[in-house]
Amino acid sequence: MSDSTLLAAPVASDDSMIEQGEQAGASLSSAAGLGHAELLVRDAVPASLISMRNIWKTYQMGSEQVHALRGVAFDVQKGEYLAIIGPSGSGKSTLMNLIGCLDTPSQGEYWINGKLVSAMEDDELARIRNMEVGFVFQTFNLLARATSLHNVELPLIYAGIGSAERHEKAERALAAVDLADRMTHRPNELSGGQRQRVAIARALVNHPSILLADEPTGALDTKTSHEIMMLFERLHAEGNTIIVVTHEPDIAKRAHRVISIRDGEIDKDERIK
Ligand code: ADP
Repeated sequence: MSDSTLLAAPVASDDSMIEQGEQAGASLSSAAGLGHAELLVRDAVPASLISMRNIWKTYQMGSEQVHALRGVAFDVQKGEYLAIIGPSGSGKSTLMNLIGCLDTPSQGEYWINGKLVSAMEDDELARIRNMEVGFVFQTFNLLARATSLHNVELPLIYAGIGSAERHEKAERALAAVDLADRMTHRPNELSGGQRQRVAIARALVNHPSILLADEPTGALDTKTSHEIMMLFERLHAEGNTIIVVTHEPDIAKRAHRVISIRDGEIDKDERIK
């Protein structure tokens, strides 16, 4: 249907025009009576927390182009627990960097919370990243000389929050990952699982929209991995949106939805719980 048909109002006196107007009225009523401009806006800004549309990432290697992502498209709703899995070289890290607003695509649209990230410049991208994404890495990435409390306070310092509020928030975040009795320990005074829990507290202290974890159990033994995955399950049950990037099927199975990527394309997108 053309734009003019959609906009035609049933005001004309001749029969054919009335018929045309009734058709248009039916279309409009199915769209809740919105004006055309509103329809276009509604259509453009996705309601999902994340919306990836035809995402390409191409690296130039000398005279050769490497297509790390080839037209990836998916949406993530608030409160989902998603795993992204794929073999080495499939494009997982590239996709993670895009989801985490660390990089922008060569082509395509990436929306997070109604904001078009793919068109952003670096400083704006950094602001969105600090606000929307909490990162958890395989090797924890904690400051070695800082206490648990200070490590968790760091994102709040960047966010310009005063010291009393910082302390309170960091203490609460550490208590939420069962580390209330490890506030003043430094990383080398903690087990691997405890270090990862400090990193998870740091990721969540600012209440980001997404908890984005890159091989979060890659440096942990089986029992500790299990404990961290139990914690993710609890955080998901509490309403957090979690995205885990991994090459381990056992870790991916803990999520509720699994996207498999292969050669830069989505191979499968399955809800498993
Ligand atoms: P994964 O994380 O699944 O191992 P990556 O996203 O790291 O996969 O890589 C996907 C593809 O893109 C690979 O072929 C890799 O060699 C290539 N690639 C990744 N980063 C770069 C880069 N900075 N420059 C050139 N090629 C890259």
